[in-house]
Formats: sequence, structure tokens, C-alpha cells
Amino acid sequence: MTLLVIVGTIAIVAVTITVGVLLDRRIGLLPRPKELLEAGKPKPARHDAGEAPATAIRARGAQLERLRGARRCPTCREVLVAAGDDERVRYDDRELLVIHLRCPRCDEPHALYVLVEGGV
Ligand SMILES: [Zn+2]
Repeated sequence: MTLLVIVGTIAIVAVTITVGVLLDRRIGLLPRPKELLEAGKPKPARHDAGEAPATAIRARGAQLERLRGARRCPTCREVLVAAGDDERVRYDDRELLVIHLRCPRCDEPHALYVLVEGGV
């Protein structure tokens, strides 16, 4: 009796595995190794306009002042406030103005990169 139970259990497991493998080959239940490798690769970072030197916003005079009060926190959408003095940096042979901002709600620092037309 015990032997019959053991053999029966093994048979049920073997049939279940066989059916599962056949189903997976036919309709692809499990992700393939190539898909898993693709999913594990890091995605290139994407920055919105002004969030990185490469995506600096072009502005001049009055536009520059409007930019300061118009940025919102990407996390909580609160309007960002000034945090410290502006900074000048060189990036890709261009001089950029870096406006330092801070979210009053999250207290997270943010930087706004601006290419000031007519020079910084
Ligand atoms: Zn925030």
C-alpha cells in the first residue's frame, strides 16, 4: 500500500511537470533567459528640461526670473523655492547657470541648469 502511494505521488508530480513544460513551450508561461537579461539591464537616465547640464534650458533676462518661480518638485508638485546662490559651471564648452532650489515640503534639493543666451 505504501509503495503504491509513493509511486502514485511520483507519477502525479511527473505528469504535472510534463504538462507544465509542454504548456510553457506552447504558450510561453515563464520568461525566457534572454528576456530576463534585457529586463535586468539598467535603463539610461532620463532628465527633463533643465534637470541636467545636457538638458539645460535656454533663457534670457526676464525668462530667467520666471523660471526661478515656476519649477515644481517632481515628487510632490510643490513650487520649489530658492536655496543658496546661483553657480556658474562649464559643460560641453558652454557656460551654464545652475540655480539651486529646494522643495519646502520634501526638503529635497534640486538644480536647474540654464544656458543664458547672451552669456551668463
Ligand atoms: Zn517635494
